[in-house]
Order: sequence, then structure tokens, then C-alpha cells
Amino acid sequence: MTEVQTETGVLAGEERMLIAGELQFTSSGAKFDVVHPASEEVAGQATDGTVEDMARAVGAARRAFDESDWSRDLEFRYHCLTQLHEALERNKERLRRILITEVGCPVSVTASQIESPIEEVKHWTEHGKNFTYLVDNGVHETPLGPARRKIHYEPVGVVGAITPWNVPLYLNIAETVPALMAGNTVVLKPAQLTPWSGSEYGRIVAEETDIPAGVFNVVVSNANEVGAALSADPRVDMITFTGSTATGRAILAAGAPTVKKTLLELGGKSAHIVLDDADFNAALPLAAMMACVMSGQSCILPSRILLPRSRYDEGIQILKTTMEGFPVGDPWTPGNMQGPQISETQREKVLGLIKSGIDSGARLVTGGGIPENLPTGYYTQPTLLADVDPNSQVAQEEIFGPVLTVTPYDTDDEAIAIANNSIYGLSGEVSSADVDRAFGVACRMRTGNVTINGKSHFGINSPFGGTKQSGLGYRNGEEGYKEYLEAKTIGMPD
Ligand code: ADP
Repeated sequence: MTEVQTETGVLAGEERMLIAGELQFTSSGAKFDVVHPASEEVAGQATDGTVEDMARAVGAARRAFDESDWSRDLEFRYHCLTQLHEALERNKERLRRILITEVGCPVSVTASQIESPIEEVKHWTEHGKNFTYLVDNGVHETPLGPARRKIHYEPVGVVGAITPWNVPLYLNIAETVPALMAGNTVVLKPAQLTPWSGSEYGRIVAEETDIPAGVFNVVVSNANEVGAALSADPRVDMITFTGSTATGRAILAAGAPTVKKTLLELGGKSAHIVLDDADFNAALPLAAMMACVMSGQSCILPSRILLPRSRYDEGIQILKTTMEGFPVGDPWTPGNMQGPQISETQREKVLGLIKSGIDSGARLVTGGGIPENLPTGYYTQPTLLADVDPNSQVAQEEIFGPVLTVTPYDTDDEAIAIANNSIYGLSGEVSSADVDRAFGVACRMRTGNVTINGKSHFGINSPFGGTKQSGLGYRNGEEGYKEYLEAKTIGMPD
């Protein structure tokens, strides 16, 4: 493994993938480039795994599930995942630099992508240790006499985890650690743009834990076909996926012939209903900030702001001021809160959607292009579009950029109708001086989660999932752990 260090702190990660306990290159030796989005420079390479590599990884995971004690030995799993937690802690600064190199995430906002997932490993390890895997459901009358029923929670089997590039280490861990702790074996397929957050995880497992060969595999590849092969493989019992709704549909279809259990966290187009009694100076600067950190590359971002017509201009002005003063720039410089988009393709998509909004009648209040002082790197100006038609493309499609659309409304009912006018149903937000009123509005939003007055719904202890085309199932909370378990009911003599 080569480490490339430049004055900006770019660091190349592990090039190899992990299959059947061995860190390895694909047999042809093919590699693909990893680009640092803040400089547009190639930071290093990763092995370009194939469909055949994926088949070997699934075979290894299948054997490890069927032929080893992993699924039955809770104490050993606790030991291994405790080791993993300690190993991730030791590698923390290295993982942070790799994350910034791959994603361009500003160093000042990396805690949620480094410290949080490492802490979550600890959480799932303890949660899994204390979980009640056998529940006595009591004695039930049946036509053949009384039967005692016990519910045994058992691992699903081989879990395929497919992850996106926006929060790569966080999701690599969120999709695999509860699965492993519950007794499953895993094949992880990280995203093309962020292979190292996956391959480094594989290296750490191989070199610094006792997790047995085949229990955890990472297949790195630059081809969508490799993820598709994982989601179609009949030896895989479950797919856990975070990414676009289009890919989620493909994964559901690929799993249909073998009726695979599927956990999907997909796109979002969340609305923030700002009620007419809200404290604008508290709610709106925060809303603008949330749109810009991570360069808007967050599925739960409330990107549609709905403002009461009675206070419309006041609201627009506050959003504009915050966005124009937002610290955009080199992710290695502390204090910068918005870095580049992850790739030129993503930036073009963002700029294209902004243009489509303007073409459909929206008013460009600020931004809309590339910052003049940042010609290198895939930077986008924080952008505010007002008077946005709720049916227009920019109000309906996920942008994944530092862009807020603003639409006025007259009544609470109208605001709720606009918020619900979406194929997505991931998150939402309500701001109001009256928390009961906000709660009533939150309950009418057809989404999986809602934040009121900036108090986040998101956390390891509470279920997180999308409704409508934003997903199936839950991460986090008790619900999130049970996703990786089957509830087997056993009837027996009393
Ligand atoms: P984005 O559009 O944000 O890049 P995607 O949903 O395309 O997100 O990608 C998320 C993950 O899904 C990546 O790891 C990618 O390789 C994988 N992927 C892409 N296409 C498929 C597919 N047809 N089947 C399974 N996985 C796929």
C-alpha cells in the first residue's frame, strides 16, 4: 500500500479488497483512480473488482455463515466487534484524512462521519450483547391442545451491503456492524467514488481483528454491475442499501426472483414548513447552514423551504444573508464549512437543476454558479431559488447540492399539501413558536422522520426510515437491529 502525502494532507487508502480473509487485487491487476474533489487531482487508486470477485466473496460469506459458529457464538462476536471498535479508534485520524481526500468533506464537519460511526460500533456491540434473542410468548390454546410458543431471533444469513459516497465510512459501518453483531456474514460493496472508506475498513478487519475469514468481505469496483451481481446472487439472503431511488428499484427487482429481504434507504426531497409564528432568526440561518455543510450531499436535507406569504420577504432575506456569508473553500482549512461537490458530474447535475428551476420561473436570489475565487475543485455557490413552483423539476427532484428552493403558502393546510406533494417521504422539518401546533403539522407530513425547531430526529437510538419511494425498513433503534434478524416462532409442549 502506498501513502501519498501532499501539503494539503491528501492521503491514499488501501488499494486491495478483502475476500475470504485475504487482502487482494483483482486477478487482472486492473485499478481505477480516486480523485480528490478539492484539487481535481488523482490521489491514488483502488483495485477494480469484477463480477467474478463478487461471486467469490459471496461464496466465502455463504460458507462462513453455513459452516462456522459465527451465527451462534454471541460471545465471540462481542469480542471481535469490541476489537473492531478499538481498531477504528486507533485508525481514526487516518480514516479522517482518507474521508476528506475521497469526499472533500471539510475537516471541521467530519465528526459526524468519523467519531459518530466509530461510537456506533460500540453501541451495536453492547446492544447486540444485551438483546433478548429468546422470548417466551406464553401458552396458547390450539385445536390440538395447549402449545407454548417461543420466539427465537436468528440472523438472516448472508447480507449484501451496498453503500453510497456521501457519508461513506458512516454508512459502511451503519449497514454492516449491526448485521455482523446479529450473527450474519457480510459482503460490502462501497461506492465507486469512495472505495477507500470501504477497503480501509476491510484492511482493519483483516489486520486488527479476529473476525474469521469470510465473515466480512469488501469488494471494491468501479462498475455498477458488481453491485448488481451482489443484489441478484441467490446465495445472498438480504440486501441493505443506501443510495438513489432508481438504484433501489433495480435492487428490489434483482432480489425478487429469490424474494430477498431488502432494507432500502433512498432519496429524499424533504420540506421545511416554517409556520407564521416561527422565530425566523433561529430557524432560517440553521436551515441555510444545513443546506451547505456536506455541500448539500445529504439525503435528509430539508431542501424545500415553505414560507408563509405574510413573512415571505423577511424569510428570503435571512436565508440570502446566511448563504452569502457561508464559508466555502478548501476542506483542509479549519473553519470552512462547505467543500466541493464530490465530482464534476455531480456539480453539473446540480447546476443543471438550478438552471431548470430558473427556466421554469424561479427567481435566483443568490448563487447559481461556481464561486469565482475557487476555479479549481468542484465547488458550487450556495444557491437560493425563490418563487419556486412546487410542481417544477427543481422542486420535485433531489438536487444533492447546496441549494434551497423557497415556495410561499397561505394556510397550514396548503403548506402540508405542498410538503406532501413528492414521491419521496424521508424527512421533514417544522418551525413554530407553538410546539403543539408544530407537532400537529409534523404528524400530517407523510415522511419517516420530522425535526421540530431544529431538534434533530436522527440518532442511533431512534428508528430512521423513509416512507413512499424513500425506502423500506429502518436503521437505528431496536427496529434497526431487528432488521438483521428473523423472528422464528417455535411451538412446543407446555
Ligand atoms: P448515486 O446516484 O448517488 O451515485 P447510486 O444509487 O447510483 O447513487 O449508488 C449507490 C451504490 O449503489 C453504489 O455503491 C453503486 O455502485 C451501487 N449501484 C449502482 N447501480 C447498482 C445496481 N444496479 N445494483 C446494485 N448496486 C448498484
